[in-house]
Amino acid sequence: MERIMNKFWWKGSNGGKGIRWLQWDRMCTKKSSGGMGFRKLQDFNVVLLGTTVSITQDPWLPSSDPYIHTDHEAIRNRTVDALMITNQIEWDVDLVKDIFSERDAQLILSIPLRPSDMDSWFWKWENLSHYSVKSAYAAIQETKQNSCWNDNFPWKRVWNLKVPLKVKHFIWRAIRNILPTKDQLLSRRVAVIDKCPICNLEVESVYHSLVSCQFAKQCWCLLGISPVEDDQSSFNNWLSAMIQKCINRKLQEVVMVCWSMWHNRNEIVWNQRGGEGSEVCRSAKALLNQWQNAQDKSFDNFLDFMNQEDDKERWEQPQEGTVKINVDAAIFENFNTYCWSMVA
Ligand SMILES: [Zn+2]
Repeated sequence: MERIMNKFWWKGSNGGKGIRWLQWDRMCTKKSSGGMGFRKLQDFNVVLLGTTVSITQDPWLPSSDPYIHTDHEAIRNRTVDALMITNQIEWDVDLVKDIFSERDAQLILSIPLRPSDMDSWFWKWENLSHYSVKSAYAAIQETKQNSCWNDNFPWKRVWNLKVPLKVKHFIWRAIRNILPTKDQLLSRRVAVIDKCPICNLEVESVYHSLVSCQFAKQCWCLLGISPVEDDQSSFNNWLSAMIQKCINRKLQEVVMVCWSMWHNRNEIVWNQRGGEGSEVCRSAKALLNQWQNAQDKSFDNFLDFMNQEDDKERWEQPQEGTVKINVDAAIFENFNTYCWSMVA
């Protein structure tokens, strides 16, 4: 545990603002619970969490699109525990296969309900007076999504790019399909018009917004990237293809332009002002150059700064009546694995 705790992987990486890497902060919400004692989180997860998670409304599938697609009377307003065999920690396989589409059923049944021997999860304090079951679920869900780190996407190229961290995080979100595009908002029951705010022609998805929208195509053309022919593809496939064929410098520009396009899109949505494609490309390149120049000059100082910050950090006692959940995670590149842990 301490070994993992020492590798505070994401510390400072989101600059404290903007993208929330994982929703750990949600874990500290107050809620009466009590008397958990020493329980394995996985058992706890299954027994309690299942009763709090809506089958159709919550993002609980281990997929980049974590929502159930199936619409069936039997599952409306029901919670996930309804899909388990009564009093057992097991999926009701027949039921799941009957009700859900093949895709949903496969994802549901792929969620292991029994803990593996590899992990051990403990709640340290016996008097857990405030604890949110749902928020813990959200964290577990994030972890499950994180297990996609082992997928075939060439993450290493992305993380090794010399571009601002916020841009890498943005790309990560785009690949994970967790940008607030109109299609995503709709799938979360947020009432919005589904059309792309830039072209007003097609449903806005990550792929549309960053690749297949007329505006995006114009940007790519300006950057010397040939336009896509297959508009049905996904952003992941598109970026994978870019990673295959681009040298680093070009790839840096590609991700910067993605970021810049998204920034431009947000300007249109929130401030009713956006630039031309040429402006988007120009600012993407300018930002990249500025950032890289600054990096070259101050990288050593930057490292010093990071180390100083490390020393300053001290654990502080939680306020009375609240539970502090300490979390950490690390990615072990050599083993292609990750770990995370928490202590309450
Ligand atoms: Zn569009």
